[in-house]
Order: sequence, then structure tokens, then C-alpha cells
Amino acid sequence: MFVERETECWKCGAVIKVYTWEGHELWAKECPEEGRPASVQWRFSQDLGEEYWVNTCSECGIIQGDWFLYLEDLVFADIGTKEEAQGVVPAPGGSVD
Ligand SMILES: [Zn+2]
Repeated sequence: MFVERETECWKCGAVIKVYTWEGHELWAKECPEEGRPASVQWRFSQDLGEEYWVNTCSECGIIQGDWFLYLEDLVFADIGTKEEAQGVVPAPGGSVD
């Protein structure tokens, strides 16, 4: 099941839909279940230096990195992913607090 939220593309400013799914882990390597929205793509992240399943902007195509969606802008905070993420992921160069 995909959960949809709206956010603003950090690049072009368009209001876009972004998705998370059941069992999602940050920087997911596992292919999301069937019925995947077209904007969730296997893309290379400059910040991460790897490819993962990530949301993209439906307007300009730029990736909406997990770091921003889950930890910075907390787009999915209401469904509990932030707490999970904080236990697992150290912030680059500092704490997530
Ligand atoms: Zn955009």
C-alpha cells in the first residue's frame, strides 16, 4: 500500500505528490510493491553516491531525497517513519536532533 503526501519540489517549487509504502526503509534497495507510482524511481543520488528507490518530481524530474522527505521536511512524520529512521540513521556530520 502506498501512502501519498504533498510536498513542494525543492528544485522547481511545484506542489507534487510523494509516496511511501509499507515496509519502506530509508534509501530503499528493495523494489516497492506492485502498483508503484510512476514518480517513484530507481535513481542515483549524488548525496548518497548510490542508487535507490526514490520519489521524483513529476514536473522537473529531480529526485526528492529520502533525507529531506523523512528527516528534514518530515513529510511522512505522521506515519511514524521519522522515529524509525532516527534509530537507524546517523545524520551526516552530526545529530538529527
Ligand atoms: Zn521539480
